[in-house]
Amino acid sequence: MKNGLKEFRVSSSKQIQAIDVTDGIEAIARKEKWRDGVLFVFVPHCTAALVVNEFEPRICRDYEKYFAQLKKEKWEHDSIDDNAAAHVGSAAAGSETFFFVKEGTLVLGTWQRIILMELDGPRDRRVLLEFVKTSA
Ligand code: ZN
Repeated sequence: MKNGLKEFRVSSSKQIQAIDVTDGIEAIARKEKWRDGVLFVFVPHCTAALVVNEFEPRICRDYEKYFAQLKKEKWEHDSIDDNAAAHVGSAAAGSETFFFVKEGTLVLGTWQRIILMELDGPRDRRVLLEFVKTSA
């Protein structure tokens, strides 16, 4: 792995699943002693996404329902490997996000969590992190 770039892995257990990865990201931030800067988070996958939002059981089921509804459409890519809805969901929600880190803490709203949206599981997924230090 390139110097500075960190990675951790997440395993999904369902085809469409919201997974809270906040604790895993914060654990790496503590281990690496990241203090003040910008943390870039990226999932190198075409059928998963990163979402920053509340992680509460009912809204998680709503996220899963929202992405599952894409499967009702007829998509051209389904003729290849039958997972176009997962690609479209990933393209719409995005594969990357960033956070401010202040005094060793991720700056998040009260209810905000970092959620990996599995859209074509179950699979093993990678989450990549790059921290860029700024002056405090
Ligand atoms: Zn595909």
